[in-house]
Amino acid sequence: MLRKRVLVLGSTGSIGKSTLEVADNLRDEILVVGLAAHSQWEKLLSQTLQYAPVGVALSDPAAAQRLEAEISRQKLPRPPKVYRGPQGLVDLVRATEGEVVVAAISGAAGLPASIAALETGKDLALANKESLVLAGSLLTRLARDKGRQVLPVDSEHSAIFQSLLAGRPEEVESVILTASGGPFRQKSLEEMRQVTKAEALQHPTWVMGAKITIDSATLMNKALEVIEARWLFDLAPEQIRVVVHPQSIIHSLVQFHDGSIICQLGPPDMKIPIQYALTFPRRRALPVKRLRLEEVGHLNFEAPDTERFPAIRLAYEVLRLGGTAAAVFNSANEVAVTAFLRDEIKFVEILECVEQTIRDHEIIADPSLDTLMAADAWGRKQATAHLTRYPSTRHRVVKDQSVLKE
Ligand code: NDP
Ligand code: MG
Repeated sequence: MLRKRVLVLGSTGSIGKSTLEVADNLRDEILVVGLAAHSQWEKLLSQTLQYAPVGVALSDPAAAQRLEAEISRQKLPRPPKVYRGPQGLVDLVRATEGEVVVAAISGAAGLPASIAALETGKDLALANKESLVLAGSLLTRLARDKGRQVLPVDSEHSAIFQSLLAGRPEEVESVILTASGGPFRQKSLEEMRQVTKAEALQHPTWVMGAKITIDSATLMNKALEVIEARWLFDLAPEQIRVVVHPQSIIHSLVQFHDGSIICQLGPPDMKIPIQYALTFPRRRALPVKRLRLEEVGHLNFEAPDTERFPAIRLAYEVLRLGGTAAAVFNSANEVAVTAFLRDEIKFVEILECVEQTIRDHEIIADPSLDTLMAADAWGRKQATAHLTRYPSTRHRVVKDQSVLKE
């Protein structure tokens, strides 16, 4: 059998590394031909030595230069071509022949490579939900025009994708996304005002990259997933529901017209949805922990509290607004999460900033890619302007100056 040639973008991250473990599990079926990341050149070098890809890319040009120098020092029999800078990622995807691109870069930075993947006739195994939130209309249209698939890697969307096989599209009433509720599910609004970065980075059920872990604590991750589901499965906003399910065992559900609900369960291990995206419509053996329901004991469900977690309410508003709203929603969040991770703002200020930025935005309908990118940039600028007004940011500035005086 000819092996499927796969490019892994974001290979040094949480999803990227799990993807390479899946590739190890499917050596007879998958050939890794491309690897890309941002700046972790040493990690990318060791992956290059292990997988001997045709091409590698780092979006940080200086890191790419280090990588290239190190690769040439290694005197490999077939050294990979090294691509540099943000455009290098796109060039890697365009120049490397393959069947599937695993999009596992975090943030809107993943969009150009996702577009390049579809444009060059590759399927897109999509973890990078931000690119679909930003440009869902364009990516789904492009996939249709090119006859390619966008295969969900996100566990909830993989669960929906699998559950949808139980009926026809016109028989679907709604999809129900499950949310763990994050580490602050039981905290009061007062308590949430005081939570620390370390607490926010402690996800109760999943181990993930920093950005998505914070998004899970604010429930912004679920908000982005509502928009992701809208595009992946071509649903109306009122067909998408969210239920909090703290154990993260049921990964999501589909309700059909006859009242039946079909769902997918499994241990919280991203290798399962990653492998399914790569082997669909088949299922290959995978040595992950088996789920034993008698050990789980209870499965609990509750409605999300949109008072404490405004993100989900905003997601529906953004879907209703349409146009450039989602681009701004996403980019403002990226700015706010980065500021929170740098200890510049408080946890609750993340969503305050996102909401304010959305309120300031004048929506443009039917946006082109350029318009979406401009809205993304506008959202970043506006969110940054909001953040400088927060008392906690001012406090940091004062603190930093006192540090300088010492
Ligand atoms: P990580 O932070 O662990 O990894 C991010 C990866 O993207 C790294 O390889 C990083 O490279 C690379 N990267 C970041 N910015 C850029 C850039 N500007 N250009 C090129 N590469 C870049 O994130 P995760 O693996 O947790 O998440 C990746 C995506 O998958 C996100 O969109 C997330 O929402 C989604 N996802 C993740 C899940 C999870 O369980 N982790 C579950 C469902 C979805 P470097 O290491 O060099 O910085
Ligand atoms: Mg998810």
